[in-house]
Amino acid sequence: MPVHALGPARRAGIEHRVTHPPADEAATLHHEASRRLAALDQRYTSSRRALVDAIAAAGRPMTMPEILGAATGVPQSSAYRNLTVLCEAGVARRLAGSDDLGRFELAEDLSGHHHHHLVCSACGVVADVPSSPRLEKALDEAARLAAEETGFAVTDHRIDLEGLCPACR
Ligand SMILES: [Zn+2]
Ligand SMILES: [Zn+2]
Repeated sequence: MPVHALGPARRAGIEHRVTHPPADEAATLHHEASRRLAALDQRYTSSRRALVDAIAAAGRPMTMPEILGAATGVPQSSAYRNLTVLCEAGVARRLAGSDDLGRFELAEDLSGHHHHHLVCSACGVVADVPSSPRLEKALDEAARLAAEETGFAVTDHRIDLEGLCPACR
């Protein structure tokens, strides 16, 4: 199994968009997704696999309508339930947005793509921001300060920046 597929989520400076994953990477992803579902006694059905393919290919968090548009053949009636199961299994992650639409992305340890989010407060679109050594250094410093002031043991971080996307400015 390639290290980058499952290794530590933090891969500073590497933008790893899974737009067209090589076959072995996709196989690793599906193998791991199947393993995580099995741990919950859930099957990796063709619908669930199609949903994973859709969110892995997107490169940014997708709304349910976007996912259904990309994952053709997945019944709409069961898509939400299937995504919920994928989130419970740690394959996908649901983001709380600034609008009513939930957005879904691949779990970060599966995408191997440590990143942060830009959330548009007008239209709700969420864009991924790949991390960089400079950004990580600044965030590590912020985490250190927060830990110092609160006694909290910080193990990871995730930031959402709110503002206006280029289309809404
Ligand atoms: Zn916007
Ligand atoms: Zn993301």
